[in-house]
Amino acid sequence: MKLPLRGGCQCGAVRFEITENPMALYCCHCTTCQQQSSSAFGMSMLVPRDGFKFTKGEPASFAIPTDSKSKKQGHFCGECGTRIANDTVGKPALSLKAGTLDDRAQLKPVGHIWVKSAQDWMIFESDALIYEGPPDDGYFALMQRYADQEYAS
Ligand SMILES: [Zn+2]
Ligand SMILES: [Zn+2]
Repeated sequence: MKLPLRGGCQCGAVRFEITENPMALYCCHCTTCQQQSSSAFGMSMLVPRDGFKFTKGEPASFAIPTDSKSKKQGHFCGECGTRIANDTVGKPALSLKAGTLDDRAQLKPVGHIWVKSAQDWMIFESDALIYEGPPDDGYFALMQRYADQEYAS
């Protein structure tokens, strides 16, 4: 994966650039991701906060309701409504909606989380990391597997 990575919303009003290596790519099957993606699951890419910036337009944001005290924001295009990223205050990485990347041909998720609410017809790769709920190891194994897949020489 060659940096910088670029992407944006469906209408092109909001564009972004990634200048540091992404840390993980996985699918989330939680009911919230199903709803916000209006699809079967969300595809999330963990991107270092310092390596992400909006280069065109100003995204609209709203506060995502959470069970915990953490403050989580969803960034989306105010024109076309494409969700671009979820951002939890204080975390070193934000969760990019990977389908907004210009080049989606090489996106290979290394795991699936919240599979207990996955659609019945989902078939998972036999070597994928599978989590019934949220990753209980702080996403460590997902990040490790992704580094092996993308950056091992
Ligand atoms: Zn847009
Ligand atoms: Zn989710």
